[in-house]
Amino acid sequence: TATPEREEVLRLDGLVMHFGPVRAVDGVDLIVHRGEVVALVGESGSGKSTVGRCIVRLTEPTDGTVTLGGTDVTHLGRRALRAVREDVSIVFQDPAGSLDPRMLVGDVVAEPLRLQKVGRDERRRRVDEVLGKVGLRPEVAGRYPHELSGGQRQRVSLARALVSTPALLVADEPTSALDVSVQASVLNLLADLQRDLGFACLFITHDLSAVEYLADSVAVMYLGQVVEHGTREQVFARPSHPYTQSLLAAAPVADPVAQRARPRVVLGDDLPSAIDPPSGCRFHTRCPVAVERCSTQEPVLRDLGGHKVACHLVADDGTPPDVTAASTMS
Ligand code: SF4
Ligand code: MG
Repeated sequence: TATPEREEVLRLDGLVMHFGPVRAVDGVDLIVHRGEVVALVGESGSGKSTVGRCIVRLTEPTDGTVTLGGTDVTHLGRRALRAVREDVSIVFQDPAGSLDPRMLVGDVVAEPLRLQKVGRDERRRRVDEVLGKVGLRPEVAGRYPHELSGGQRQRVSLARALVSTPALLVADEPTSALDVSVQASVLNLLADLQRDLGFACLFITHDLSAVEYLADSVAVMYLGQVVEHGTREQVFARPSHPYTQSLLAAAPVADPVAQRARPRVVLGDDLPSAIDPPSGCRFHTRCPVAVERCSTQEPVLRDLGGHKVACHLVADDGTPPDVTAASTMS
């Protein structure tokens, strides 16, 4: 039996976002299906947050298109955007910075509904309900954000993002500003909510261990471009791009045997500037297996049976270059 086409909640085609000379995002294609969790992974400065901001149209892209639920929203005006925003929400890294300190928590959470002209009683009912879902007591509605802990504030952000039952949640490093002790609980909450409510999620993170636990598929970004995209199993069990291999080698894993089995790749230098990114393959200045043409010829993102990779040395059957052989260099 043929599997039905899965509905696309989000589609990015050739997304470009330049800030003056900074090529923050430089040609990203990405699809998120209904109910799917896609992790967008990369180092700080890779452009992943900018992708998130383009999706919720906090910033208008330089080029390319953003399609939400079948509607091209790339150049919508304010009013039309408001309708679209009911279908997509964002949660930021720093809840303190994204919650208005002068508003009571109940009003913060209710605001998206107020903008949608939902009546007062219905708003109150839904705020109570969503606070319960994120594990907060109803009394929290009468307090100010600064009276809460960081973890509680991030729960408030989640409540606000989910109160309008969006089809897509963009979660930009939702736990990385929190104490390590509460990161796991917020991540667990996000996973539980996603399972219960079924929203699609673009989970933006530099933390691969969180991805392994949460994501259905993983897109890896490097200097404004996606260099690998596959299912969680494909990317974790058989990472193809040398950059992904190096990220995985650096990520802590629960199982020490699995850690030892992973190739050791040490990333030499810092991420190059996005102002004048390296020619050819942008990773060539740090890649342990780079060959001559890597510095002149840009690899395209090839689809190798659903697993997409942009590297000259990955074979057509997906066999990656042997980075372990070259990994003594740093
Ligand atoms: Fe390394 Fe070349 Fe592949 Fe880029 S194209 S990842 S430099 S081997
Ligand atoms: Mg960021």
